[in-house]
Amino acid sequence: MTQPTPSAAELDARDPLAALRERFSLPAGVVYLDGNSLGALPIGVHDRLANVIDQQWGERLIRSWNESDWYNLPLSVGDRIAPLLGVGKGEVVVGESTSVSLFRVLAAALRLRGDRQVVVTERENFPTDLYILDGLRQLLPSLEVRFWDESVSAAAVLDGAGVLMLTHVDYRTGRIRDMRELSAAARAAGALTVWDLSHSTGVLELDIARDGADFAIGCGYKYLNGGPGAPSYTWVAPALIEQVRQPLEGWLGHKSPFAFVPEYEPAPGIRRFITGTQQVLSLAALDESLKMWERVSMSEIRRKSMAQTSRFIERVEAECKGYGLTLISPREGQLRGGQVSFAHESGYPIMQALISRGVIGDFRTPNILRFGFSPLYVSFADIDRAVATFAEILRTDAWRAPEFASKQTVT
Ligand SMILES: *Cc1c(COP(=O)(O)O)cnc(C)c1O
Repeated sequence: MTQPTPSAAELDARDPLAALRERFSLPAGVVYLDGNSLGALPIGVHDRLANVIDQQWGERLIRSWNESDWYNLPLSVGDRIAPLLGVGKGEVVVGESTSVSLFRVLAAALRLRGDRQVVVTERENFPTDLYILDGLRQLLPSLEVRFWDESVSAAAVLDGAGVLMLTHVDYRTGRIRDMRELSAAARAAGALTVWDLSHSTGVLELDIARDGADFAIGCGYKYLNGGPGAPSYTWVAPALIEQVRQPLEGWLGHKSPFAFVPEYEPAPGIRRFITGTQQVLSLAALDESLKMWERVSMSEIRRKSMAQTSRFIERVEAECKGYGLTLISPREGQLRGGQVSFAHESGYPIMQALISRGVIGDFRTPNILRFGFSPLYVSFADIDRAVATFAEILRTDAWRAPEFASKQTVT
């Protein structure tokens, strides 16, 4: 076996982010390479939730809306996410799933482009994004959907379009779309942009306003470690927000919810994207997880992420050569997000065999083995152990055991 230089131990010893791993509760013996799908559990979340349940809810009851400022949680949690997007405080709101947030911003963007009811997206987009778009198309019979991919000119597809809706980092391959260039093409065509940052936030250095985004949404339970089903975030460019109306206007997005008037008037700023009562328990968990980022530099995160994904690719290609794996993530670090994907015709049972040995990644149809590297808690030693396990499974054909063949509900 060829030993790469420097060793994993050396890289871990000089990793400025290494100490953050101590802030997670990770099970012994597990190499967790699925933080791009469900982030690990930060230590403080358990006590925080116990306090919210026992004290705030149990003891203080409804008084906690004011005493513990439950009321402002969608914005105060948004303020913790804002620096990760490169935007200002008061510009981000948090609530509901990414799918719901996408529906709100997409409809809001189309409303600003009254005569241009055309949305451009990619057929390879994450399916929920396409489903939400299609649901909207059924509500708005004049809405036209066009597909863009790298084989055609963005300017040509965007001609006459109202909205460009893209996902920044592809969930299958980890390929990064050029936000600046595509947003500029949209702007030149007179279209607004909607970016889904689900696989970007917390692993890439983002500056979405500089890069020309008009609307952005993304997921709270991946690299942000907010827990299963954590609420999503929504950002709208400050230059647009006061003109924007969203389609799920509810009382807590009203200018004066407790005036209880029959007519809707939007709250100033991003608060208007709140629909109904916020998910206080989920927001508290996400809020606690996000405290971690206060002392973290995104450029260090990105540097470590690229070093880890590069090492994984190099080592897999060296140690697992000849077993039919094909790298489908970009080889160039600058074009790759925080994950590495390999195609293999028996991807599913191979991943099951890896998981049975404590190396947890996931499988995406039709044949993709996906490995996510959260720089907050994945070590270089983890990477070497994952590669060694991967090589052993392929060399011994351990993945051919019948128990790895049957598909579970969630892959
Ligand atoms: C994970 C992910 C989502 C998740 O959507 P939910 O509605 O929160 O389940 C949406 N879009 C993309 C691109 C994702 O990667």
